[in-house]
Amino acid sequence: MAAGEFELIRRYFSSGGAPRDDVRLGVGDDAAVLAQRPGCELVIATDTVVDGVHFPSGSAGRCVGHRALAVNLSDLAAMGAEPAWALLALTLPAVDEAWLGEFATAFDGLARQHGVAWIGGDTTRGPLAATVTACGWVPAGQALTRSGARAGDGIFVSGSPGDAAAGLALLQRRLEAGAEAREALVRRFLLPEPRVALGQRLRGVASACIDVSDGLVGDLTRLCEASGVGCEVDAAALPLSPALREAARTGARALALQGGDDYELLFTVPAARQGALASLAGVTRIGVVTERPGVRVSGAPEAGGTGHGYDHFAI
Ligand code: ADP
Ligand code: MG
Repeated sequence: MAAGEFELIRRYFSSGGAPRDDVRLGVGDDAAVLAQRPGCELVIATDTVVDGVHFPSGSAGRCVGHRALAVNLSDLAAMGAEPAWALLALTLPAVDEAWLGEFATAFDGLARQHGVAWIGGDTTRGPLAATVTACGWVPAGQALTRSGARAGDGIFVSGSPGDAAAGLALLQRRLEAGAEAREALVRRFLLPEPRVALGQRLRGVASACIDVSDGLVGDLTRLCEASGVGCEVDAAALPLSPALREAARTGARALALQGGDDYELLFTVPAARQGALASLAGVTRIGVVTERPGVRVSGAPEAGGTGHGYDHFAI
């Protein structure tokens, strides 16, 4: 984007997110310069959100700006990392300054909330999409991965899965709910809250961890495959929010199992370390890891359990 690019960057992309001592050089030069943290390993993730694919076309700038960063902070959370920096590559079909202002304010606000410096990016013209690269730190050797689950470990999930999928269904008029439930669920879809603090608390506790972006069963399948194990999920144990029950009724469990976009953490913990979870609010045990491969769901026949979440390349 040649014309006005520098002015756009100055106006909307130079706020810098959270101030950090380790940023030697942020937005404005050819690249950012960052100081290393001794004793730590760098954790890096990148994710793109595309108009009409990851958010409904016509979404407010504040929702897209929030989502673009939130989904990447969720990946860092799933690794147990402490977020530090983010880069934004933004592709815009046209310059709508009101939309851009909202986008930048939301992005900057979420960055500051999590101590993340906004250290650079790129701005181009094309179909609306935002790619964020997020970086964070873990003490050396302590990153959480998908591959450490072992038979006998408990399976836990944060928050109340299914809410975001219900929020999307409400926006698309596939569900109906009273004003209060509707607002809560739509908010959970439009403004997901990455579980950054929880991820760091799980270091040294969880044996494996993944964030729920494509649906609980689908992401649990991925975790189990990476760990070479299977699992049994008790659908009756799923923490369903009152708003989800009101909106989805008998379909609530199916949404909690299959619905995407929650950005909660799904993790496994060996029995000997489960005492450490007592001090964590909003975490629920939903099943157990087994040697036998595959994800089996019991306790709620209407819920099914064969789905594998959202897959862009499913045929
Ligand atoms: P170059 O042509 O050298 O890549 P750019 O004109 O793309 O430089 O960017 C100039 C500066 O503005 C760089 O520091 C870059 O990181 C920053 N920048 C560009 N777009 C964004 C954006 N969307 N968010 C944050 N920083 C940006
Ligand atoms: Mg550039």
